Amino acid sequence: MTDLESWIKYGEEMRRPLLINPELVNSSKIIIVGGGLSGMCCALRLSEKKPDLEIILLEKKDSLGGVISTWTDGEWICDLAVNATRPHPAFWRLIEDLELSDAFKPSNQKAKSRWIMMNGRKHKLSLLSIFRIGLFKMLKSIKQSRKGGSSISELIPNKQIADALTLGIVNDTAENVDADFLMPAMTGFGLEPPIKKSSLNKKISQSYPIFTPRKGSIASLNGGMQTLTKALEDRLIKSENITIKFNEVAQSIESISSKYELPESSIIWAAPGLYGESDFTELSIFVIGYMDESVSDVKVGYGTLIPDKEIPISGILNESDLHNSKRCPQGHRLFRLMVPHDRWDGEEDTILSHAKKLLGTNPVLFSKIGERKIPTYKPGYMNKISKLKDNQNWIGWSVSGVSITHVVCEAERIAELF
Ligand SMILES: Cc1cc2nc3c(=O)[nH]c(=O)nc-3n(C[C@H](O)[C@H](O)[C@H](O)COP(=O)(O)OP(=O)(O)OC[C@H]3O[C@@H](n4cnc5c(N)ncnc54)[C@H](O)[C@@H]3O)c2cc1C
Repeated sequence: MTDLESWIKYGEEMRRPLLINPELVNSSKIIIVGGGLSGMCCALRLSEKKPDLEIILLEKKDSLGGVISTWTDGEWICDLAVNATRPHPAFWRLIEDLELSDAFKPSNQKAKSRWIMMNGRKHKLSLLSIFRIGLFKMLKSIKQSRKGGSSISELIPNKQIADALTLGIVNDTAENVDADFLMPAMTGFGLEPPIKKSSLNKKISQSYPIFTPRKGSIASLNGGMQTLTKALEDRLIKSENITIKFNEVAQSIESISSKYELPESSIIWAAPGLYGESDFTELSIFVIGYMDESVSDVKVGYGTLIPDKEIPISGILNESDLHNSKRCPQGHRLFRLMVPHDRWDGEEDTILSHAKKLLGTNPVLFSKIGERKIPTYKPGYMNKISKLKDNQNWIGWSVSGVSITHVVCEAERIAELF
């Protein structure tokens, strides 16, 4: 594949390093540790590319999907982690290959607006936000960030806007987040595309199967993200060269290599662990539902980011506004609340009373639906991992990219090495 073809296929993901031992391609049997989206996609793409390769997928729990799962209660439905995808041709290819095209829809165009709560007031995020930061200041900090290792707070010199962005993506404040990791195209991390960005973007947009997404749009699945992990699981079970082993906790690459008598280069680690178990932030996820008339003052949109640490809710996602598939009973609206543990006293009533102030006083549903951990990516992170020796195989969101488009794309890039 030419350099240009790779950039059309993978876009800005080409800037992110692959932590893959070159010896992997000589394996006749491989073990993938971790049955989240990353391990599942990697197993799928390798099994398609190399039907004679024996693949064992090890998962410590008794189910696949990792952090992705979908909560339901009657007609109410909400994802616990990712609920929609940003445009990337690799994700569209996955949906098409899994024959999920009919269940995959662009999000509601009327729900594009995002707000940020600053000094007790909601402000719409738009190009105007850049003017709030100051165009000159912004350009200066982008230039500065090109030296590498900056934090998002250095890249975006407005604390509230920067925090809102990072809290919304990685549940951490901007001074703790590596700019090269979150925005490599802006900081100029890694390789540069071989042609002008505008020409490349045009070629990428022509490469989407199913439908070409609008710029800045998102898309989601009927029934939530569990529709994807279920279809992937069904496909993996049917693949003749894949064995799935549940309830197997791998201690390390070394231990799996010795247990299965395989070289370390044949083990792909698709689970957390690159930098130790303590490198996480934790959050709880709540849902709150209303009858339409109780929240008629809440504008239809994507959601609201809340950087103010005095409020235990860091983000409100207007779930039933943004998806094209149903998320609640007719005549109702559903909101998802993100609650970082370092802001919260642990009392559910605290969340309920804040949610009532922010949304409306008469909810018909309020429930904590789960907890999640998100890896931390401190400033300098991307520089650090790109210098790691490629004697082991590390993939997934704990490594070089946080989003599902990253892990889906990474699986294709690895299969292509064979
Ligand atoms: C609250 C939240 C919101 C998110 N929102 C978005 C979003 O809007 N957009 C987006 O693109 N992404 C989002 N993400 C990120 C997205 O969910 C991840 O990129 C993706 O699901 C990561 O998949 P993974 O397979 O790399 O990791 P995981 O899902 O963490 O999977 C790792 C797997 O490894 C298993 N495992 C762990 N240790 C071992 C061991 N020792 N032995 C065997 N198995 C082991 C685990 O049980 C798990 O199944 C969000 C994540 C969270 C938590």
